[in-house]
Amino acid sequence: MTDRPRSAPMPASLRAGRPVPHPARTVRCPHCAAAPGDRCTTRTGRTRIQRLDPCDARLTAWADHATAVACCTTCQSAPGYDCHHPDGTPAPVHDSRYDEAKGTAA
Ligand SMILES: [Zn+2]
Ligand SMILES: [Zn+2]
Repeated sequence: MTDRPRSAPMPASLRAGRPVPHPARTVRCPHCAAAPGDRCTTRTGRTRIQRLDPCDARLTAWADHATAVACCTTCQSAPGYDCHHPDGTPAPVHDSRYDEAKGTAA
C-alpha cells in the first residue's frame, strides 16, 4: 500500500557544519582576559562559560589590531591609518583588512 521511503532526508539546516573560529580570537580579549586563541568567557556565579561570540571589547581590539598591522586592500589605507570611504569620510574596518590581518597574531 504505502510505498514511501522510511527515512526522509535530513534538512541541511539541521546539519550545520562546525563553526569557523572567529578571527578576533587571534587577539587577547581586554574584557574577559581570554588569551589569544581562546574563546571568550562569561562568568556566571563561580563558573566561567565559554561564549559563542567574542566580547564586544574583543571585536574592537581586533579592529584596532587589523588597523595597526594590515593595509586595507579596499580603501588602500596604510597600517596605522583608519579605513575610509571613497569620499574620504571614516568607514568601519573593511572585511578585506581583517583578511589581511588574519595570521598576524598578537
Ligand atoms: Zn572576551
Ligand atoms: Zn579599508
